[in-house]
Amino acid sequence: MSDHQLSKTRMLSGWQCAKRLWLDAHEPGEAVVSRETLRAFAKGHKVGTTGHTLFPGGLLIGGDRTTPAQAVEETRKALTGRDSVTLFEAAFIHQHVMVRTDVLVRNALGDLRLIEVKAATGVKPYHYIDCAIQAWVLAGLGLHPTRIELAHVNNAFVYHGQNDYSGLLVFQDVTDKVAPMLEQVPSWVDEFLDVLDGERPPIDLGPQCKNPYLCPFLDYCTPPQPDYPVSCLPGGGKSVWQLRAAGVEDIRDIPAGTLGSEIQEWVRRVTIDGKPELKPAAAAELGTLGWPRYFFDFETVDFAVPIWSGTRPYQALPFQWSCHVQHEDGRIEHREFLADANGPPMRACAESLILALESEGPVFVYTGFEQRVLKDLASLFPDLGDDLNAIIDRLYDLHPLTRANYYHPDMKGSWSIKAVLPTLAGEPGQSAPDYDELGEIQEGTAASEAFLEMLDPATSDDRRRSLRGDLLAYCALDTQALVTLTQALARV
Ligand code: SF4
Repeated sequence: MSDHQLSKTRMLSGWQCAKRLWLDAHEPGEAVVSRETLRAFAKGHKVGTTGHTLFPGGLLIGGDRTTPAQAVEETRKALTGRDSVTLFEAAFIHQHVMVRTDVLVRNALGDLRLIEVKAATGVKPYHYIDCAIQAWVLAGLGLHPTRIELAHVNNAFVYHGQNDYSGLLVFQDVTDKVAPMLEQVPSWVDEFLDVLDGERPPIDLGPQCKNPYLCPFLDYCTPPQPDYPVSCLPGGGKSVWQLRAAGVEDIRDIPAGTLGSEIQEWVRRVTIDGKPELKPAAAAELGTLGWPRYFFDFETVDFAVPIWSGTRPYQALPFQWSCHVQHEDGRIEHREFLADANGPPMRACAESLILALESEGPVFVYTGFEQRVLKDLASLFPDLGDDLNAIIDRLYDLHPLTRANYYHPDMKGSWSIKAVLPTLAGEPGQSAPDYDELGEIQEGTAASEAFLEMLDPATSDDRRRSLRGDLLAYCALDTQALVTLTQALARV
């Protein structure tokens, strides 16, 4: 008989990878949880608590100080009697497995509705497993759910204020999908308890490490890497695992003619040559574009549960932009906007950028993100639509041009601006901007978090000023980076 207990989270870890489950239990300190993952957890929590508001009169089981055993007992008492009842975070334990159910509704007839709330915008196959584990535990206690539902975020929902979130969640009946899985749960439980009772499973890195979740033990499991690991091949996927299975770890050791795509072959060749390659087509293309040239970048924030009227879940909402303007005579100016964190920033952002980007000349961006944000702004503010659409017509995405024409071995298979920029340092006439010299904001997620902190009424004025300075420096560097990039690409 095992001494271990399985939570739903551990069951899902085991379902992804037995080694992950073992590490969760035996080496939890080795987990590295990324900033993005923490933000995703926070969003999930917010969706869950907002979901509760859709069930008025529901009872929340447990509090911050409640032990699992107390939560189980509280749940048992709440379900005593025959009255209809709605419970949030109800706790159950059956045969070593403990689960908390997001929402459990029992009507006056005794029918049980089990609802799992997800911050995702659709149902994923692994969500059924999540539901099956819960339903199996309940059934083991004689509480057979009549109906099992997955509630996920409706990304077409538009918030109209007044804390009215009816329509935020889509409820899908998944009873028929989950039912056939119930008989598999006992074998998962046995298998996972065996894993926990045994030695660390000898499992190598594989596709499971990022699917369905990014595993927090990736660093722990990754052996020392060569200078140019095959995992850096663009669009790697299957070919990376095939190369590794064949014992090839370094891009420079890949035999010629074995890679599946032209771009992978290019990366291999340039890496072996050890010298950057710049194709003249980039300069030729840039030479056809007019002046003045604008180099533009947004910073945005998004909410799983919208807080501003007229916005949707996960909509990228701009609160800041930076723009460098380069004139034909070589002069460069800088323009910028950062909202003051007093309410929705989108209107002021849109109006200010329309003025700053004037009416002529290409607007350089990197990837299609700015176009999507501008389109959203145009639909949010129809009276600004003509001006914003005129800017969209002037956008020039430097990413495909760079990807097609420039590669440096140190980019290690990435054409992100932060991978490209350092490789331009030291070139004649170039001094690449350096993200490492920035304050605490050096990437987009940190910028979003900084703005959220500025929005928080509890943030002190001093802290707000400091965040503001860091945000301005970060966004300005992003557009300075685009200037440096075009200058480098224009060299023949
Ligand atoms: S990194 Fe991969 S192999 Fe290691 S525990 Fe996670 S999923 Fe398993």
